[in-house]
Amino acid sequence: MIRYSSLLTRRTTNAIRVSQRYYSQSFDDPDLFRTRALINGKWIKKPDSFPVRNPSTQEIVAKVSDCQLSDYEDAIVGAKAAFDEFRHTSPQERSDMLENLGNLLIENKQDLARLITLENGKPFADALGEVLYSASYFRWFSQEAVRMYGTVIPGPSGNKQMFSIRQPLGVVGIMTPWNFPSAMLARKVAPALATGNTCVVKPASETPLSALVIGWLCQQAGFPPSTCSILPTSKTPEVGKLLCGHDLVKKVTFTGSTRVGRLLMAQCAQDSKIIKKVSMELGGNAPFIIFNDADLDKALNGIIGCKFRQSGQTCVCANRIFVHKDVYDEFATRLVKRMISTFNLGDGFNEKVTHGPLISAAAVEKVSQLVEDAKQKGAEVLAGGKKAEALGPYFYRPTVLSGVNESMDIFHTEVFGPVASLVKFEDTEEVIRMANNTDVGLAGYFYTQDINRAQEIALRMETGMVGINTGAISDAALPFGGIKNSGLGREGSLHGLEDYTELKSIVLQA
Ligand code: NAD
Repeated sequence: MIRYSSLLTRRTTNAIRVSQRYYSQSFDDPDLFRTRALINGKWIKKPDSFPVRNPSTQEIVAKVSDCQLSDYEDAIVGAKAAFDEFRHTSPQERSDMLENLGNLLIENKQDLARLITLENGKPFADALGEVLYSASYFRWFSQEAVRMYGTVIPGPSGNKQMFSIRQPLGVVGIMTPWNFPSAMLARKVAPALATGNTCVVKPASETPLSALVIGWLCQQAGFPPSTCSILPTSKTPEVGKLLCGHDLVKKVTFTGSTRVGRLLMAQCAQDSKIIKKVSMELGGNAPFIIFNDADLDKALNGIIGCKFRQSGQTCVCANRIFVHKDVYDEFATRLVKRMISTFNLGDGFNEKVTHGPLISAAAVEKVSQLVEDAKQKGAEVLAGGKKAEALGPYFYRPTVLSGVNESMDIFHTEVFGPVASLVKFEDTEEVIRMANNTDVGLAGYFYTQDINRAQEIALRMETGMVGINTGAISDAALPFGGIKNSGLGREGSLHGLEDYTELKSIVLQA
């Protein structure tokens, strides 16, 4: 077996070639490297394929079956037939299968993390963290599957008994992004299966390998055929339209940009004869406020993770960092010093690397343009501020911009890149107004040691999630989701089953 360390040194970095066999052989279990589509329980090689590239090296690491609309049609019809039986499995059976699945992810975490780093580029340690995070959703929902509670309602007139129960929806259309190719799928597939639904999954075309492996592990965990089909495709808009417009798909759930989420919601409303449920986990523009009484050590640790995790490509990344004028200079100096002394940009398989590439040339271009616009409007570059072309076309240097203000595009746009935009503020009213001056509201963070201020700001921040003295909020136990244009619905937590069920009311005349 070829180990990854040797694989790295042997790689021909300049050659763009298909090294699929080469890569799959380097896995502890080569069966986890899957390139065929999973349709109705069968692994199908399609005549067409599309390449998956390692964003660090540009190498093609796999050619994956390219599913057509007719494949999706087959998967949807199969998922509907499977639903008619799967909905009658007992909660305990579904719980057991989900527990198996979570355990299988953990047992195979090294290989699953390799897949993530290969196709997404994030550092291997972060990829390992993502696998465990994914597993936590399967385990969480294995426990929630047996807690699909309803209510018993006292009838006001006394001679009626009233109940509410939760029932599954049917076929769920799932569209997942490339930034957490394993965890975002887990967060949707786990509650869907826990409640007795069946799924048809469209993974991001950049990162299908991390999705396909979960289909394989679903089979090993005991889920029946057609309960979770996973179909890689390069026909992204066409498939999105099909899932939204299909009358057998009872719910559509998507994580990605607000632009695409809005489009999919319109398609659900216009193209389908049925009214369907939608869950949308969309973009953010997270404020991160450091008050003058903050513990700066903690705030610094918070921003390093919250801003730069996965090179800034998470929807809950700090996007605008508001620092009180009393601590602004000290914080900026310490932030730059920390970055210079601890950040190491490069290929995610290199153990010393802390930060990887962006996902695409378009992502690098977007970040560059935002930084240039900010510079032209008066922002000062304290660190970075340019592409790291010597490492590869998708690398951008971790950057600190000082003097950012509301006239700049970067203030109003989700950067999705490694740029810390520092905004100086003087008082609470000013900073709350600026923090809420955005049409999205996913996550927000602030640091203070004043309990009264903590309570006030948490209530006034217009976001679905708030971190107080922490930059790390994601957890399977927490309701995850946004307000404003950050979307609809909540994933995870004790509320996570609600979006995958209908509440039925039953009245019994005594
Ligand atoms: P995008 O919204 O275009 O793509 C995100 C996902 O949606 C991808 O997996 C893509 O395959 C899919 N998609 C795109 N168009 C679709 C369509 N018509 N129908 C169905 N699925 C479709 O985002 P992007 O171009 O990859 O990134 C741009 C911005 O999107 C980022 O800068 C960021 O702001 C946001 N984004 C957010 C998240 C998140 O976690 N909320 C994830 C990815 C991207």
